[in-house]
Amino acid sequence: MAALLTKHRETVLTVVQTSKDHPTARQVFERSLKRDPRLSMATVYNSLNFLTEGGYVRRLDSGEDGTRYDGILAQHDHLICRQCGHIEDVDLLPAERARFSTLSHFHVEEVSLRLTGLCAKCRRSAG
Ligand SMILES: [Zn+2]
Repeated sequence: MAALLTKHRETVLTVVQTSKDHPTARQVFERSLKRDPRLSMATVYNSLNFLTEGGYVRRLDSGEDGTRYDGILAQHDHLICRQCGHIEDVDLLPAERARFSTLSHFHVEEVSLRLTGLCAKCRRSAG
């Protein structure tokens, strides 16, 4: 799959796949620079668009924090902290996913949950 990608896109893809924190476009840019200092923000943006449309990475709307990127393609759910923006991967719906995929009149492509709230760290500092 990656053989079809240009060098820049491959670099950006590697950054997203090795980032487990669901980075923003800016974070992907900063991390990509460490691998290739010639990269521009525009190139990274364009690469992220290409990779999202091509199904190499997933785009995630995390609310206030804006768009984040996920290198895990298998379906899963997310816990999103509204205070620090921390995003955690969880698998809350495995049974539902299997059940919904058998609806005959509608072809289900994705079932996912986005739970927002406060992470343990932010809850501790609030209390
Ligand atoms: Zn994720």
